[in-house]
Order: sequence, then structure tokens, then C-alpha cells
Amino acid sequence: MLKTCAVIGSGIGGLAAAIRLAAKGLKVDVFETNTYPGGKLRESYSGGFRFDTGPSVFTMPHLIDELFTLSGKNPRDYFQYSRLDTAFKYFFEDRTCIHLYSDVERFAQEVEEKTIDSKDDFYRFLRDVEDKYNLINEVFIENSLHLVRNYFTRRVAVGLANFNKIDAFKTMEEGNRKFFRDPRLLQLFNKYALYVGSNPLVAPATLNLIPHLVVKNGTYVAEHGMYAIVKALVKLAEDMGVTFHFNSFVEEILMKDKNAIGVRVKGREINYDRIVSNMDVYYTYDKLLPGVKKPKRLLNQPKSSSIISFYWGVQGVHPQLGMHNMLFAKNEREEYDAVFSGNTICDDPSVYICITSKQVPGDAPEGCENWFILVTAPNEQGQDWEEIVKRTRKNVLAKINRMLSISLDGRILTEEIMTPPDVRTRYWSAFGAVFGNSSNSKMSAFLRHPNFSRQVKGLYFVGGSVHPGAGIPMCLNSAKILDKIFK
Ligand SMILES: Cc1cc2nc3c(=O)[nH]c(=O)nc-3n(C[C@H](O)[C@H](O)[C@H](O)COP(=O)(O)OP(=O)(O)OC[C@H]3O[C@@H](n4cnc5c(N)ncnc54)[C@H](O)[C@@H]3O)c2cc1C
Repeated sequence: MLKTCAVIGSGIGGLAAAIRLAAKGLKVDVFETNTYPGGKLRESYSGGFRFDTGPSVFTMPHLIDELFTLSGKNPRDYFQYSRLDTAFKYFFEDRTCIHLYSDVERFAQEVEEKTIDSKDDFYRFLRDVEDKYNLINEVFIENSLHLVRNYFTRRVAVGLANFNKIDAFKTMEEGNRKFFRDPRLLQLFNKYALYVGSNPLVAPATLNLIPHLVVKNGTYVAEHGMYAIVKALVKLAEDMGVTFHFNSFVEEILMKDKNAIGVRVKGREINYDRIVSNMDVYYTYDKLLPGVKKPKRLLNQPKSSSIISFYWGVQGVHPQLGMHNMLFAKNEREEYDAVFSGNTICDDPSVYICITSKQVPGDAPEGCENWFILVTAPNEQGQDWEEIVKRTRKNVLAKINRMLSISLDGRILTEEIMTPPDVRTRYWSAFGAVFGNSSNSKMSAFLRHPNFSRQVKGLYFVGGSVHPGAGIPMCLNSAKILDKIFK
């Protein structure tokens, strides 16, 4: 009977895995090299401002609630959230502002009033992306793609029979063109590729299921901010008997006769019955499994994009902005070509601005706002980041001034910056890529590492670098799959 398990890393995938295994009755230890839990889901404080420094768009909260219910707890005793009425404000250079309302009918009305497309076009699109999601969810997202037994189910048969509907042979851009003619709507829906760090001009239209998650299911705000998710999950894990070890870098996964038998931490060898790695799979092989042959084809797939973020404590309150705002680039092709082919950022990138103080009281001092600015960046390929950050900062300020008539001159009270090298060093993400392998090819779903090791018995993987992919919902699903295949 299995008794003990070590989880390497306390990202959202590691936390969910620890809770699920504790609920199975295992004694779980989580080792985290940082001094805090959560990985990319992190917060920081500066000059009276609080920032969620990583994920900010919160979707599919039921996947978090599920961790409490399967542990026999009431999620509302740990964690509160609500649905945003206006999920996003989308700004375009022609001065249009399109509101993404949570109320689908209201958003359809917005589409009809502000674009050349109609409500019906939008509803046809919504039905199509919902169909895609339903076909793909159980086959690709909630189950392992790498176990033969999963291919002989009714669901997979239905999925395969309807393969043409998932549009794997069109690009996202081409998929969106089937429904929309308005360039602003196309740009808006193409942007969802960036939720997984991919290029909508080449990534398969299958990814158009993402708007289903955001537009149809809604966008949520966590009471006290995104980091409240981490705090609640750590509390739940501890209530379930999980022990956390911070400042504890796992140096090696110990093996005997091709079985994982423990970990080495700070020179100390500790035995476990099973090991789950939430470390980026690229580094797990590179750093922790010295004697194991690397699955090079999977590990060497092109990586997703990264980010440059500015965390600004801003003096003043700006009613024209909501919690989530996007200022679109004038020329989307130029933007994507720069990131995905040129390994740089163009001079007019799209700029995402998240202001949690609009919804979370206390995130900024009275009369101020906490601005989290995010620009998509290429992953690390030896660029001069100092030059790129300096140029991008100047371009972002100019864009905010031009599109919103807001000058931030002398009004940025505090500043923190995150670059692709920071993503690599802080979270051990290969090449500073935020979302693991990119989803830019038709085969990318099949070219992610499985949630288990084919070579080392007793070793499992969760998190954004493995199946089914990155983003909080997918990482939570990786732990759900682990739960199904763990033995
Ligand atoms: C700026 C930014 C914005 C984002 N926006 C969104 C968003 O709006 N919505 C969304 O859903 N997702 C978003 N994401 C993506 C999302 O944050 C990630 O996909 C997800 O949090 C990754 O979780 P993970 O389980 O892969 O673990 P990670 O967060 O990658 O954490 C892995 C952990 O393992 C630890 N570790 C690694 N190696 C070792 C070792 N050897 N020993 C001990 N510890 C180790 C690391 O220190 C780290 O804490 C964003 C990410 C970033 C950076």
C-alpha cells in the first residue's frame, strides 16, 4: 500500500496534486525552492500597493471548488469569489471601446452596436466554440492522451467522428474569419491565443475553444485578489495533513532499478513511495534525472511566448478603465511577427492593463490605483532585455497617453518589472516561456509530455509544461488527470 509522496514545487498544479493525493490518504510533503507557495501565482507589495504579479484573469472557479469538495470541505469556508459584470474593456486605436459583458445577450448587443457584425454572427460563433469545447474537453483536457485505454471510450469515438468540427487544419485566424468580418472583432478573438502563449496566425483553430471558457463561462474576481486562491489551497492542504517545506530545492529524484524512490534536498536523501514533479518538465529531466534518457522530441518543441510586466503604483483614479483592459496594437500581424518570428517586441504592441484596486478594496491607497501592465514578449533567445524593456516602457506610456488621454508623467509612485529571464529564474521555467511548449502546431496537444514517466516507475508530472497545458484551469486539470492515473 502506498503511503508517502513528495511533490516538487508548489505552483497551482503542485498544490492541486498534493490535495488530491492527501485526499487519497497519502502522507504528502511539498518541497518548494522559493520562500512562498504558488509559483507564478504570486503577489507583491510595494509602497502601500498590492499586486497579483502573475495570473489575473480568473476563469473556471469550479475547478478550485472541486478540490475542497473532494476533500470533504465547504469551499466557501476558505475562499470567496464573484463573477465580473464587465469582464474586459477592449480599446482600439480608432477610439472604439468594446465591453465584454458577462451577460452574453448584452455583449451580443454591444457587438451589433459597435461593429459591422451582427448578434447572429456572434451567436453562431459562440455555438461553434461551445461545440469545440464539448468535443475536446473530455478527450483532450480531462484525460491522459497518452494511455491506450483512453482511446476506447464512447467519448473519444464521438470526438474522432466529429474531428472536422475541431478545425485542427485551419488557423485560429481563419477559424474566426468564418464568423466575423469586423477587423476589431477578429483581433479581439485572435488575442485568445495569447492565453496559451501562441500565435493565432498559425495556431490551430481548435484553440478557439478558449473564448468559450471566458465569454460563455465568465470571468471572476477572487475576494482579496488572485493570491487568495493560493492561501486557501495551502490552508486546505495543511488541513488535509500536507507538510510544506519552503526554501527547499529538490536537487535530484532518487532512483533504484528504474523506480523513483525519493528525493535529495539540501544534500539529504529522503525516501518516498511516489514522486510528483511540478517543476517545468524540461528542467526536471535536465537537473533532477541525470541518468535518464531525455524524451528530446517532446522537450525540444518550440516554446510559448513570455511576458514583460510593469507593476506601477499610480497616483489618481481613472474611471474610463475597468479591472481588465486591453489596448490593441494597430497592426496585429506586425505584433505577432515580432514576437514569434523576430524574437522581439514591436513598437506598438497590445497592452494589457489590470487594475485590481477597482474590485479589491485595499489593493491601493486612497486616490491611487495598482496598474499591472503586461506586454507579450518572446521567450529567451539571447536578446538584449535591457534595451527591449526600456523601449517597450516608453512605447507603452506613449500608447496609454495616445489611446486613453492619460499621462502618467510623475504619477508612477512605485515600480517593479518582470522580464523573461525573471520568469526563468524565479519559477524555473525553461527559456522564460510562461506557458511551456507553444500550441502553434496541429500536433502540439500530442507533443506535450504525459502526466507520467514512461521510463521511471512512480514518477508523475503536473503543471503548465505538461499535458493538457498551461493556465490555471489546465494546470488544475493536470492534477485531475494525475488523480485518475496514479497507482
Ligand atoms: C505574468 C503572468 C500572467 C499570467 N496570466 C494568466 C491568467 O491571467 N490566467 C491564467 O489562468 N493563467 C495565467 N498565467 C499562467 C499561469 O500562471 C500558469 O500556467 C500556472 O500558474 C503555472 O502553474 P504550475 O503548476 O505549472 O507551476 P508554476 O507556477 O510554474 O510553479 C512551479 C513551482 O515549482 C517550484 N520549483 C521548480 N523546481 C523546483 C525544485 N527543483 N525544487 C523545489 N521547487 C521547485 C518553483 O519555484 C515554482 O514555485 C500567467 C502567468 C504569468 C507569469
